Amino acid sequence: MGNMIKVQKGTKDILPQEMALWHKMEENALRVFSNAGYGEIRTPIFEATELFARGVGDTTDIVNKEMYTFEKSERSLTLRPENTAGVVRSFIENGMHRLSAPVKLWYKGPMFRYERPQAGRQRQFHQVGVEMFGIKDATADAEVIELAVSYLKSLGLDDLEVEINSLGCPECRENFKTKLKEVLKPYYNELCEDCQTRYEKNPLRLLDCKVPSCKEIFERPEVKAVIQGDFICEECAKHFNELKSYLDILGIKYSVNKLLVRGLDYYNRTVFEIKSNNLGSQNAVCGGGRYDTLVGNLGGQPTCAIGFAMGMERLYSLMNEVNEDKLDAFVVCTDKKESLKLVKYLRDNDIKTDFDFTGKKFTKQMEKAAKVAKFAVILGEDEVANNTVSVKNLETSEQVAVSRNELLNILR
Ligand code: ATP
Ligand code: MG
Repeated sequence: MGNMIKVQKGTKDILPQEMALWHKMEENALRVFSNAGYGEIRTPIFEATELFARGVGDTTDIVNKEMYTFEKSERSLTLRPENTAGVVRSFIENGMHRLSAPVKLWYKGPMFRYERPQAGRQRQFHQVGVEMFGIKDATADAEVIELAVSYLKSLGLDDLEVEINSLGCPECRENFKTKLKEVLKPYYNELCEDCQTRYEKNPLRLLDCKVPSCKEIFERPEVKAVIQGDFICEECAKHFNELKSYLDILGIKYSVNKLLVRGLDYYNRTVFEIKSNNLGSQNAVCGGGRYDTLVGNLGGQPTCAIGFAMGMERLYSLMNEVNEDKLDAFVVCTDKKESLKLVKYLRDNDIKTDFDFTGKKFTKQMEKAAKVAKFAVILGEDEVANNTVSVKNLETSEQVAVSRNELLNILR
């Protein structure tokens, strides 16, 4: 017998028992995003390497360390590490700037990053995300953030924190970069190796560093004063204030985190992240922001844009904690013929139902129901005689006898 071949490090099978929640994530994405006018787009899983080098940015960890790159017919190809670059390529290639703004797209699918696998971090993982093109106004930023929150709510996830920040425009950012470098200069030798590189290449991304000794430096009073100070220009500040007022109107709670800069190079103005307190150190479920220069940089007609991406494996672990995937109803009846009929009736009416196939004792069936379902639908002798059924809410233990029509209303 040959050696057993195992799944690759950082990759996972998604098994049938996990599929209910995956389908829920996919179906809710289709529903929530379509309702807001977003059309689904499916772009190829590999693209020209250059697309990511230019689109994600060649000072990012993704491009420098994490890409799965290979050659075929002397062409350098890369498995997509994220999907904004691919969607933007397609937007340009298919002339979508000619459509009337906004152009709204959503996607889902596997992404590939050569990272150190750990809880919440895989080498093949899935993202669901949206991109909205053509609207400069802060209403677009508000819609996209609201959409992320609504989608998460539809999955039963509402114990989450929304953090926002404004990176300003390229002009106001230059100013800030200079000031930041100035104030950090005395600490240069204490910065981690990555941060020393960032200091030269992309000082803004210093703020994203997770190394404790770097974080400490950002807490020094004079450094903190620069970071917490208002560096963005009047126009950018107006945009940010408008966004905040729209989020207030929409009832979305948020906090401003001045250290939030996000890992990708292309963001300007609004960036945001949604975090959970229940995921340990890999706690971000959603990251997004505005990228008004990317379409132009990739050779398209300059078009502003904003979007987000969510990690579906991280959503899955949160959903797994909050929603137990229970049946709507478990039919409890010692007469197997009656059970078969009632189960069929409920399933025909879209109620997720099961029953005991082997005619066990009533109490055994009730025990099983309590484990697997939200409601027990009980058909005893009395019920058969009165042409009713009893429904027991297995959470509250409330029980009522009702007609079959009423039964459907309760279960729905
Ligand atoms: P992180 O800080 O966790 O590395 P990131 O900034 O690299 O995240 P993005 O590129 O913005 O993340 O991707 C958006 C979301 O995709 C993240 O918030 C996270 O939920 C998910 N994600 C990113 N990388 C991975 C990974 N290697 N495995 C699983 N999920 C991931
Ligand atoms: Mg990352």
